[in-house]
Amino acid sequence: MPDKIHTKYLLSEDEMPRAWYNILPDLPRPLPPVLHPATRRPVGPDDLAPLFPMALIMQEVSQERYIEIPGPVREVYAQWRPSPLFRARRLEKALDTPARIYYKYEGVSPVGSHKPNTAVAQVYYNKLEGTRKISTETGAGQWGSSLAMAGAFFGVEIEVFMVKVSYQQKPYRRLMMETFGATVHASPTNLTDAGRAILAQDPNSPGSLGIAISEAVEVAVKNPDVKYSLGSVLNHVLLHQTIIGEEALLQMQKADDYPDVVIGCVGGGSNMAGLVLPFVRERLSKGLPTRFLAAEPTACPSMTKGIYAYDFGDTVGMTPLVKMHTLGHDFMPPGIHAGGLRYHGMAPIMSLLHEDGIIEAQAYHQNSVFDAAVQFARAEGIVPAPESAHAIRAAINEALEAREAGQERVILFNLSGHGHFDMAAYEAYFAGRLEDYDYPAEAVLEAQQRMPQVDESALA
Ligand SMILES: *Cc1c(COP(=O)(O)O)cnc(C)c1O
Repeated sequence: MPDKIHTKYLLSEDEMPRAWYNILPDLPRPLPPVLHPATRRPVGPDDLAPLFPMALIMQEVSQERYIEIPGPVREVYAQWRPSPLFRARRLEKALDTPARIYYKYEGVSPVGSHKPNTAVAQVYYNKLEGTRKISTETGAGQWGSSLAMAGAFFGVEIEVFMVKVSYQQKPYRRLMMETFGATVHASPTNLTDAGRAILAQDPNSPGSLGIAISEAVEVAVKNPDVKYSLGSVLNHVLLHQTIIGEEALLQMQKADDYPDVVIGCVGGGSNMAGLVLPFVRERLSKGLPTRFLAAEPTACPSMTKGIYAYDFGDTVGMTPLVKMHTLGHDFMPPGIHAGGLRYHGMAPIMSLLHEDGIIEAQAYHQNSVFDAAVQFARAEGIVPAPESAHAIRAAINEALEAREAGQERVILFNLSGHGHFDMAAYEAYFAGRLEDYDYPAEAVLEAQQRMPQVDESALA
């Protein structure tokens, strides 16, 4: 490999990819069907119409390999895309590793994460189909901020159910959403049946992503001109994020290099999917040995400890059933600081790729994740989001392994966002107040008893 002094690989606006990559036709086997929550039979487009605009429903099941990015979406993307790819030269030096470490930086978007890649697209398609308002949930607030920004751009009202602990811990994310004109509630609320039911059981419920989803879905189902939007997990969300990986492929070409291992942190799976799915396509079509590694918290280990089963996307059981790695829809996550990774399930596409051995997974404790975050910040100057720091932990471990083995290794990871709104988490880490927590395997087995029972042999 020629020794280059380059540290960043940029694409011009004209080089921005014109299409998203849809992996559905290239999966090793078809995704199991999505099931209706009541009948437990496969859903059709009309079943989903109360929730999503038809364009997104069609993308959810499309068999077209490439889907053109509409002009108005490209125009918004161009404000921060193509995002930079960096070579982490100072981090490599600090680790004294023969590995070459690259990272794709999604923190350059106006709200500081990858999430606007899909928020902009979703609001655009909603606007085209006449949606007046979109309801959604948010955990740490990154998704709500992204949708609120996109709503402001396209003139669609945004109503956000924000998990109560985050609402209290992260007032600045809430204010950011309000600055964009969105309405934000601390979930559970007494505005919905789902929220009232939870509050009746536990008036001090800290909320969860699953509960907030139940509330947002209910608002959409009960109002014909309101649709619902999800910031991760679904096929169309992963599709919109593939612009990350399509850009990274071109940028690795400019670097005259190719990754041995591609890493992402996983909450619902969208930022990792965005980076890796185009590389999965290359591996499958060219027989490459590329590895893919999902980094998750030990406190919410849906891939490493969850089971691959049909489950609800929300807590109350209003959403369709999807087959995924899940900790159980009534999972109550411990209050770890990577709020964006506290979801009980995993994207069906990523679950299938994990089940089929294409994607590996590793879980990490909070303190070791923050060790990595601080080491990265001191070397590279970017304070990472606690979510993204899981990917950094995994990347540093890979680089240290390469050092031990005396091997070259090319590592690419997604730096999904910056941590400028997460300094309270850093404060807790510096003060030694972060607890390492292992989610007990028994709890998953218990939750399994409460999962919807589906006779899969009857579906064929
Ligand atoms: C939301 C979020 C995540 C986790 O969600 P995925 O769908 O798994 O990508 C990771 N990083 C950041 C910065 C986020 O905002």
